[in-house]
Amino acid sequence: MLAEIKGINEECGVFGIWDHEKAAELTYYGLHSMQHRGQEGAGIVASDGMELKSHKGLGLVNDVFKQAKFDHLQGRTAIGHVRYSTQGGKVIENVQPLLFRAQTGSMALAHNGNIMNAYKLRGQLEEQGSILQTSSDTEVLAHLIKRDGQGINEETIGDALNQMVGAYAYLILTENKMFAALDPTGIRPLSIGMLGDSYVIASETCAFDQIGATFIRDVVPGELITIDDEGLRSTRFAQQQQRGMCAMEYVYLSRPDSNVNYVNVHASRKQMGKELAKEAPADADIVIGVPDSSISAAIGFAEESGQPYEMGIIKNRYVGRTFIQPSQALREQGVKMKLSPVRGIIEGKRVIMIDDSIVRGTTSRRIVQMLKEAGAKEVHVRIASPAIQNPCYYGIDMSTRDELIAANNTVEEVAELIGADSLAYLTESGLEKAILTDNTINQGLCTACMTGKYPVKEEGKKEISYTGC
Ligand code: AMP
Repeated sequence: MLAEIKGINEECGVFGIWDHEKAAELTYYGLHSMQHRGQEGAGIVASDGMELKSHKGLGLVNDVFKQAKFDHLQGRTAIGHVRYSTQGGKVIENVQPLLFRAQTGSMALAHNGNIMNAYKLRGQLEEQGSILQTSSDTEVLAHLIKRDGQGINEETIGDALNQMVGAYAYLILTENKMFAALDPTGIRPLSIGMLGDSYVIASETCAFDQIGATFIRDVVPGELITIDDEGLRSTRFAQQQQRGMCAMEYVYLSRPDSNVNYVNVHASRKQMGKELAKEAPADADIVIGVPDSSISAAIGFAEESGQPYEMGIIKNRYVGRTFIQPSQALREQGVKMKLSPVRGIIEGKRVIMIDDSIVRGTTSRRIVQMLKEAGAKEVHVRIASPAIQNPCYYGIDMSTRDELIAANNTVEEVAELIGADSLAYLTESGLEKAILTDNTINQGLCTACMTGKYPVKEEGKKEISYTGC
C-alpha cells in the first residue's frame, strides 16, 4: 500500500461550469474533448445549490456517462475530471472529483498535477487522527482545508494550498461556490472562459471550443478564483514564481487546437519541426510523422527543409494510447495494433521519421522496424523535443530514470537500439524558440524531464527521491 500511495500520479483534465441549466451535460462534453488527458476514469459532481451529487466510474467518458445519469446530476453548477494514473492507482476510490460530505458544508475536488509532499502531509494528518479513504494526493487538500473546523473559503483554501509543494490545477465545488487554483509556478494549464453569462474553467481551451464558450484568460500562477452568485473574484494565495509551464504539454500532451499559456499547440509543434530541420537536417526522399502528436512537427520539418511531407504511417483510431498498457510486452503489441506503414509510400525510400518524443524507446524501435519491413531504404529518426533523461515529479507518467532510454544511453546507442540509420533530438534552445514566442505572457517552461532543471523542489530534500510518478 505504501508503494501504491507513493507511486500515484495524475496526468488529468479538469472542467467546471458555473450557473448553466445544462451544467452536467456541458461538463460531459468538456471532458470528452479532454479525453486524451486521461482514459482511466471520469466523473462529474453537480450542485443544485443545496446538495452535491456525484457520478463517476472507471473507463472512458462515454462508458461512464449514459443519458440517464444526467437526471441524477441536477443543478446549475458542475465540475468534472478525466483521470490517468500509473498502475497502482487504478481503483474507483481514486477517480475524481472526490466528494467529501460534512455537516458544515460539502466539497468536491478535481485535480490535475502531482503533490510532491503528499506523503509527508498524509503522515502528519494521520498522526492528528485523520483517516484517509483514497491513495490519491488530492484527498490531502480536502483534509487540510477542513482541518481547523473552519468553513471552505479563500482563506482556508489558501492556507491549505500553501502547504502543498508540486504542480496543481484544482477545481473545488461547494454547494454554492466554485474555486479554481493554480500552483505558483503554473506548471499545468488552467483557463477561464464564458458561455453566455456562465463561467467555464478548463485544463485546455479545446473544451471551450467544444461547448461554444469564449476564452477569457488563463488562471495566473498563485491565483485563487472564486465564483459565486456575486460573480468572479480573484485573490492571491501565493506570489507568482517564474513561470514553469510544462514543455510536454506542447510536445505531446495537449490537443493541437488548444492554446496553452496563450500559445497554440499545433503552431508550436510545427515550429519545433522547423527548428529541428534547421538543427539536424538529413538527406532523404520523404518526411513522415508518427500520428497524431507528431504530424504538426513533421509538417514543419518538411516545410523548412523543402523535402516532401508524406503520410507514411496510419493510425487505427480504435486502439487506446500505448502508454496505458502496463507491461512492456503489451506495450509492444499495442504499438503494432495501433500504427501501420503505408507500404506504397515507404518502399524504396529514404525516410525522415519525426516523432515528438522518445520515452522508453518502444514506439520508435517498433516503427523503425515496421518501416524497414515495408521496404524503407533508410530511416532517419528526428525527435521534436530534447531527450527525456529525468523523471517527472509534476504529474506526467514519465517512468523511472531506469526506464528512460536516453538516461542510460548516448544518442548513438539509442539510434542503434531503435535500429535507426541516424538519430537527432531538438535542442533545449530550439524547443524554447518554438514555444516562447513574443506573444507569450509569463514566459518560462518546465523542461525538467529533459534538462534536469526542476523548478519546484521539496524543501529539505537534497535529491528528489521519488521513484517515478
Ligand atoms: P516510448 O514508446 O516509451 O518511447 O514513448 C514515446 C511515445 O509515447 C511517443 O510517440 C510519444 O508520442 C508518446 N508519449 C510521450 N510522452 C508521453 C506520456 N507522458 N504519456 C503517454 N505517451 C507519451
